[in-house]
Amino acid sequence: LWTQVLSQLRVQLPRGMYDNLVAKLVAEALTTECLTLCAPDPFTRDWLQKHISDKTAAAIQEVLGYPLAVRIATAEDLQSEPQPQLVPAVRPPAPAPIARARGSLNPKYTFKRFVSGNCNRFAHSAALAVADNPGNCYNPLFIWGGVGLGKTHLMQAIGHHRLSTEPNATVCYISTEQFTNDLVDALKHDRRKDFRDRIRSADVLLLDDIQFIENSEATQEEIFHAFNTLHEAGKQVVLASDRPPDQIPRCSERLTSRFAMGMTADMQIPDLETRMAILHKKAEAERHSLPHDVVEYIATRHTVNVRELEGALTRAIAYSSIEEVPLTIEAVAKLLAPAVPRRVAVTPEAILQIVSERFSVSIDDMQSSSRRREIGFARQVGMYLMREHTDLSLPRIGDVFGGKDHTTVIYSYNKIRDLQQTNPELSQILRLLTERIALGDR
Ligand code: ADP
Ligand code: MG
Repeated sequence: LWTQVLSQLRVQLPRGMYDNLVAKLVAEALTTECLTLCAPDPFTRDWLQKHISDKTAAAIQEVLGYPLAVRIATAEDLQSEPQPQLVPAVRPPAPAPIARARGSLNPKYTFKRFVSGNCNRFAHSAALAVADNPGNCYNPLFIWGGVGLGKTHLMQAIGHHRLSTEPNATVCYISTEQFTNDLVDALKHDRRKDFRDRIRSADVLLLDDIQFIENSEATQEEIFHAFNTLHEAGKQVVLASDRPPDQIPRCSERLTSRFAMGMTADMQIPDLETRMAILHKKAEAERHSLPHDVVEYIATRHTVNVRELEGALTRAIAYSSIEEVPLTIEAVAKLLAPAVPRRVAVTPEAILQIVSERFSVSIDDMQSSSRRREIGFARQVGMYLMREHTDLSLPRIGDVFGGKDHTTVIYSYNKIRDLQQTNPELSQILRLLTERIALGDR
């Protein structure tokens, strides 16, 4: 600790002062409240106590993430003191609070970098509301959705927003797995109280991947009490999971009901437009401008997981800068082909088949010009999915459906896209169909 503080002071203080006075200090003892430094003589002690205490305290705060008192004394001072007051330097300090440590948040996971679309609009607005008004609107906020859809990003954005409007707020981000590990560790070292204090001192508790709670009884118990304490004190709790509260296996009923007592918001697979917006935003953040057709190409290839989508973009950008070639569809196609073999299975026929089964409408009917309601609807869903998951042009999609006009395809696509926004049942159906398509299911 002292070495790190010293290196900060070295750049802040005049050279002579640092070399002649500060560098002569020796770290003598460290307790949870105080760092004691030993000065060679009373003059140095008094002078430094007067002139650098503030700077030292600030440097410590910077290094540790929380404040510590600083005391400068001479060897004589220390000897004349009753010994028990001094704790030997070797004693391990209490675990640093995760709290307030901006370090535990990924600096990229801000609202500014989050793209909102139909798939996540509700979760996004709920997160914004919670960030602006923690403890007062939706408590807890429970965010759930598939892997790589932005749950962690969104919950950490709440933390960043909190810290930027209220720098003294205590934001605690922890995954449920880490929570369990820390708890086990605390129990082993007789530090349960430290652990509790750390979690319960949060103004905003962000508890990620809560589905892993099933693995530990002790964790369930601890989370239950932490939740109650924080909730009663009006502190904000945000939870993220890959499934809704009532579907977490072996999670006790009293916990499930608490998780669901605030607001539950799900995140869906982003549609093509949102995926393209995410790619554009990410490219922009890396100061890279990408041709629109390349973005569209990548976005049609990675449909179910934003993390993979980003991975493809990163590979493409790296490739183009290493090889110093412009990013064209041909270049990207070559580059991305090996990583996405399962996309091969996504043929228009497979989509027709899946839709036909789901709605009990024959493929012939979808390709006919029948205007019967259920046939028309299945056709529209089919066109939507085909636009989402293949790179067929609009006229080609029209052809697959028995030679419909491309304006019909656009109309259908827009209609289904907008409808799922207000119709959770449809959005659920689309999600399941998308999963089947992604699995190459015929
Ligand atoms: P999850 O926690 O749901 O598994 P993450 O939050 O880790 O997903 O997101 C995976 C990656 O995708 C992250 O790099 C994240 O920044 C990015 N991401 C996901 N959704 C969005 C979005 N709507 N806008 C911008 N980036 C996103
Ligand atoms: Mg996550």
